[in-house]
Amino acid sequence: MNEKVLLIADSITVGELADVLNLPVTTLIGELFKNGIASTLNQRIDFDTATLIVEELGLEVELQKKEAAATERRAHELTDKAVARPPIVAVMGHVDHGKTSLLDYIRRAKVAAGEAGGITQHIGAYHVETERGMVTFLDTPGHAAFTAMRARGAKSTDLAILVVAADDGVMPQTIEALNHAQAADVPIVVAVNKIDKESADPVRVRGQLSEFGLVPEEYGGDTQFVDVSAITGAGLDELLASIVLTADAALDLRANPDMPAQGVAIEAHLDKGRGPVTTVLVHRGTLRIGDSIVAGSAHGRVRALINEQGENVTE
Ligand code: GDP
Ligand code: MG
Repeated sequence: MNEKVLLIADSITVGELADVLNLPVTTLIGELFKNGIASTLNQRIDFDTATLIVEELGLEVELQKKEAAATERRAHELTDKAVARPPIVAVMGHVDHGKTSLLDYIRRAKVAAGEAGGITQHIGAYHVETERGMVTFLDTPGHAAFTAMRARGAKSTDLAILVVAADDGVMPQTIEALNHAQAADVPIVVAVNKIDKESADPVRVRGQLSEFGLVPEEYGGDTQFVDVSAITGAGLDELLASIVLTADAALDLRANPDMPAQGVAIEAHLDKGRGPVTTVLVHRGTLRIGDSIVAGSAHGRVRALINEQGENVTE
């Protein structure tokens, strides 16, 4: 039961695998052959094949995939070309608790007047310049059907704002969002929204979330709770301050702009006129028109880039 865990990449050569398993290469080649795979020392086998062979050999070893991408990413960021970057903040929570309204308010307040009116389509990610620096926000849907997207949102961000309506309190997607953020190990700031409402009970929200491990600072815990209203704007400056403070304290956010872009596709759809359209969050590097991109099994070339203001840009 006490299996040894070995980390290997997505694929590995027969020679390398024999090495990590501490087995003679001939044993491994023999076992592969028994399974219908004729191999040589330098032949690459994939992770699944390697796992199968380890099982067949009856070794007390468990293979796990090494996060090659993560290692590579860290290496990139460690170069002296890495510069400070804004925190990416996912706004999460139950449907109708006010995620989009909060972002709209922050955006209206911080984006130069005139630009805001031009925004017609829903774009899930944008930058906001605050007095304390730039913040990248990511809106996430609260509907039950969007679990995967929320998981992706939590994974691609540095910090999560958990929006809970003070009148409704903690709801199923509140808990689910919380689980995603905790699984992704991102710091959480709680925005208790709709405090303008008569039925608002922000104290109850604090009690409910304490049961899930989010204990407010004022009760001796380490989670910041900020009471806000997306209608009156109350508490929003405090919320921005909390975000920037938490990001500064917990994270050293740096990225290298001088490399091919890497990031995540937040959402995508097929537009009749324009073809495939996707919202991407670039984590490092610079994305330019003409660049080739790969996302999962899809690939293509960047034909146009449109920023959160709806303007065409070249990078
Ligand atoms: P989302 O599903 O979390 O993005 O929620 P929305 O931003 O779409 O808001 C849902 C509803 O709640 C809308 O009718 C908003 O006008 C309303 N709402 C959002 N924030 C507040 C608030 O702070 N106070 C009040 N009274 N209503 C709010
Ligand atoms: Mg919304």
